[in-house]
Amino acid sequence: MIMHTQYQQPCHNLGMERSTRQNTAIREAIAAAGRPLSPVEVLDEARRHVAALGLATVYRNLKSLVDEGAIQVVTLPGEVPRYEIAHRGHHHHFRCDACQKVFDVHQCPGDLAGLAPAGFTVDRHEITLYGRCSACQPPASGRKKTASGGRGAGSHEHSH
Ligand SMILES: [Zn+2]
Ligand SMILES: [Zn+2]
Repeated sequence: MIMHTQYQQPCHNLGMERSTRQNTAIREAIAAAGRPLSPVEVLDEARRHVAALGLATVYRNLKSLVDEGAIQVVTLPGEVPRYEIAHRGHHHHFRCDACQKVFDVHQCPGDLAGLAPAGFTVDRHEITLYGRCSACQPPASGRKKTASGGRGAGSHEHSH
């Protein structure tokens, strides 16, 4: 749920007004995505609402949003930092090797303390799954989705 806060101040400071609008557009782009976004992805989304937006402005606002605790950084090894809304609870991530998007994974195997060597204490864990997202499945993997009267009969599927 998105709360719209209306600032009823007179617009005597247009510079402030504009930067507030940019900041809001960037924060809402991340919130609406529901997954971690890279700065370029943030720019693409936020530009739908604030057309005159540049990457430098996105970086500046991402930094201030992190500083004020509204968003947090998602760091995967060897990847550009991505940003997600803060305080979303314990979750993990899935990175698609085809489109490079990162998605949330809400399931957790739970207590992993048993994996650590004897005598070690586990305080936290991070799990990243890698593979292909639903939009990037190769078309040759079995049945065809476009069943518009092609060669219907005699389709043989591979079953393992
Ligand atoms: Zn993908
Ligand atoms: Zn977990």
